[in-house]
Amino acid sequence: MADKKKKPEIDARFKKFGTVSFTATTKVNDFIDYLEDGKVAGTRCKTCGTYYFPPRSQCYKCLDKTEMEWFVVEGTGKLATFSELSYAPVGFGDDLPYAIAVLDYGDYKVFGRIAPKVPMDQVAVGKEMRAKANRLPNGQLNYVFEPA
Ligand SMILES: [Zn+2]
Repeated sequence: MADKKKKPEIDARFKKFGTVSFTATTKVNDFIDYLEDGKVAGTRCKTCGTYYFPPRSQCYKCLDKTEMEWFVVEGTGKLATFSELSYAPVGFGDDLPYAIAVLDYGDYKVFGRIAPKVPMDQVAVGKEMRAKANRLPNGQLNYVFEPA
């Protein structure tokens, strides 16, 4: 009996990310495993030391000399900027109002959302915040920023 060609397994872990997932497969699907484990992670190029968030599999400076490793976003970052949204992209309308923000960790910046439970009158540029892995009511994974 001839062996049937086995279909390659598709790594679709990224389907679990976000309110609306725009892609199922990426080269950085381990990001999802970190979230499942309660951690927010980015990548760092071991060749030149550049940090990447969101994680990338390839360093634009080192190209084929890239050697990536994962790092966990730990400690606190300074709120660099934020914006409270009154309108949202398709699929995110039920989440309104929500705020998007950038935390500056020094070596890298993390773009994300401020946790819905954080009162906006307690949010100000310069505030120390923490990125935290989060599970949405529908079982999807993301991460949010909370005051440190
Ligand atoms: Zn590099």
